[in-house]
Amino acid sequence: MRFALLSRLPYRRVLAWQELLQGALGGADVLVGPPHGDPDPAERAAVEVLFVADAAPGSFAGWPGLRFVQSLWAGVDGLLADPSLPQDLPLARMKDPAFADEMAESVVTHVLSLHRQLHRYRAQAALRIWQPLPQPRAAERVVGVLGMGEMGARAASALQRLGFVVLGWSRSGRSVPGVEAYAGPDGLAAMLPRVEILVNLLPLTEATRGILDRTRLALLPPGACLVNLGRGGHLVTADLLAALDEGRLDHAVLDVFDVEPLPGDDPLWEHGAVSVLPHVAAVTDPRTAAPIAAANARRFLEGHEPDGLVRRELGY
Ligand code: NAP
Repeated sequence: MRFALLSRLPYRRVLAWQELLQGALGGADVLVGPPHGDPDPAERAAVEVLFVADAAPGSFAGWPGLRFVQSLWAGVDGLLADPSLPQDLPLARMKDPAFADEMAESVVTHVLSLHRQLHRYRAQAALRIWQPLPQPRAAERVVGVLGMGEMGARAASALQRLGFVVLGWSRSGRSVPGVEAYAGPDGLAAMLPRVEILVNLLPLTEATRGILDRTRLALLPPGACLVNLGRGGHLVTADLLAALDEGRLDHAVLDVFDVEPLPGDDPLWEHGAVSVLPHVAAVTDPRTAAPIAAANARRFLEGHEPDGLVRRELGY
């Protein structure tokens, strides 16, 4: 038994993952580890590959034969924060084109909604106000995307196809056809003053934590909107609320939060200029992700470099 699955998802979802992974691995057994299963020491010792989807902190201790971890999620910040994950253990994140397409769909939904000012019409409708607003064309609207990875690049391309002016920021200045590339801290400072709708799709690392703070938000032009689909830790919420309350920013769509689920007494719920979503921008679909995870594990076991290998020194 070379494979095991660790997840705090509800048991029926874990069983669905297990079945799909076993099918994709040609019928090989995939053990279910804690909290839903309790393999004995001999079973644990035989496991070489762990598939993880929201594993409990401390889950990586007690697998003496472990050689590879495949995340079933795209973001690995939670895994990297777990001290029980050995530093030198190869870890791969999920790279599923169907998942990136779903994220692009979410980005397009939020950007079009902000572009067509649905948040303003909703506020007007609540007061029975019939008032058409001036409407710029997509070609006159500048959208900035932070992160040009699997998610960001696909989202930026989708926006570009809709006619928006799209600017993309990454560490390396990765080029995406039709998207103006910016790189590094100077690139961000140059890009933000142009951006009317800012979409965050960065991974959460030491370098990106708190990146959407007072200073960066102040660089956006007056009336700009924010769509945070990366991680809650990217955004300094107090700085966002100050910018919204002072009328410097117009609206924020937030899908991710420091604490999830967002506590019932959090002021974000009630803020008229904030749309709260329960971390749903892109949800891994086991039907497409299980075969990708299984193939990546096989690739590793056959001595090849797995896809989506996390560079620990960069934290993503
Ligand atoms: P990815 O393929 O690893 O891409 C990350 C991108 O961010 C790359 O373009 C990278 O630049 C850039 N980047 C990283 N650190 C940077 C820095 N310090 N400065 C500038 N750019 C930096 O990741 P992905 O698959 O697109 O996923 C991105 C994130 O989306 C995930 O980590 C997760 O947090 C979030 N996510 C959210 C949901 C949701 O439902 N809300 C779902 C899935 C994922 P280079 O290209 O130069 O390396």
